[in-house]
Amino acid sequence: MSDTIFSKIIRGEIPSHKVYEDDHVIAILDIAPLSKGHTLVIPKEPATTLHELGDDQAAAVGRVLPRIARAIMKVTGASAYNVLQNNGEAAGQAVMHVHFHIIPCVPGSDTGEGLDKEWNPTSPSQDELLEVGKQIKRLL
Ligand code: AMP
Repeated sequence: MSDTIFSKIIRGEIPSHKVYEDDHVIAILDIAPLSKGHTLVIPKEPATTLHELGDDQAAAVGRVLPRIARAIMKVTGASAYNVLQNNGEAAGQAVMHVHFHIIPCVPGSDTGEGLDKEWNPTSPSQDELLEVGKQIKRLL
């Protein structure tokens, strides 16, 4: 757990465009949005990554994500959006306090089109899928 810019925002030590707050979660506008309305939903628990977040805090985030997404869609008029959640530097995480991006997808917009999606699928064999699936299942 670390003290990041998001902890300072949660404590009110630096300003933000806060759109939602409850006992466990805040949501703020991203300072460098990929599209208008790009919002960060941030649990107050200062976990670095999703897998370090407590169950109750994770549930608190899950409870408000749909409501915040609905508000963003209504305000921006976007009919599509991405929820992005980066964990670890290699995955593109820049702020080491777990957070969820809600990014409206607005093709052709001059205020940002949204997430630039590059998806490079691979072709594992059935045996490979079976094996990794078995290993994960065993831990759950
Ligand atoms: P990530 O790469 O998933 O860690 O994303 C971090 C996000 O935080 C980026 O989209 C930044 O633009 C955003 N960000 C960084 N500092 C601030 C801030 N002070 N207020 C709002 N958003 C911020």
